[in-house]
Amino acid sequence: MSTNLTMTDLPARLAERIDASGACWTWDGWHNDAGYPYVHWDGRDQPVHRVVWTLLVGPIADGLELDHLCVNPPCVNPAHHEAVTHAENQRRISERQTSCRREGHDWTDPRNVRTRPNGRRYCAVCHGGGRGHEKKYSDATVVAIRTRHAAGERQVDLAREFDISSGLISRIVNGKYRRVA
Ligand SMILES: [Zn+2]
Ligand SMILES: [Zn+2]
Repeated sequence: MSTNLTMTDLPARLAERIDASGACWTWDGWHNDAGYPYVHWDGRDQPVHRVVWTLLVGPIADGLELDHLCVNPPCVNPAHHEAVTHAENQRRISERQTSCRREGHDWTDPRNVRTRPNGRRYCAVCHGGGRGHEKKYSDATVVAIRTRHAAGERQVDLAREFDISSGLISRIVNGKYRRVA
């Protein structure tokens, strides 16, 4: 990646909203819910990092995505992005993931994460192993939830009391989460 990309080559309407005082170019404008900058450009709302890349580097080939190398959502610096295929982008995102999406188990502990032969990782805790499993929801907790649900208590109330997601409560009461006595 060339390092002589300069903001002064950008149209003023974009440049005036970018803070390039640090290594990352921070967008001062509208962001989506995930924190990625968007701008109305060429008649439609577009991610700013793609607009900036197109203007300074060139067109993004069909099917390619820009990998956010610095993993800083508001950054639109093209030097901090790389055009890669969707598959490669997904692989890298998975590689950088530090917790599982389902229950947020800690993947920085290697005992909580396993790797499939295809290289994709999955949560060892959610799949019945790993360190956080027993710790988080003991057999006693699971039994108590099932007993009280069987006695008529609502899943939503149990979820709140035990501070467990409604999805997990549903799996617990349906016997899908863990089989205990
Ligand atoms: Zn950056
Ligand atoms: Zn998990």
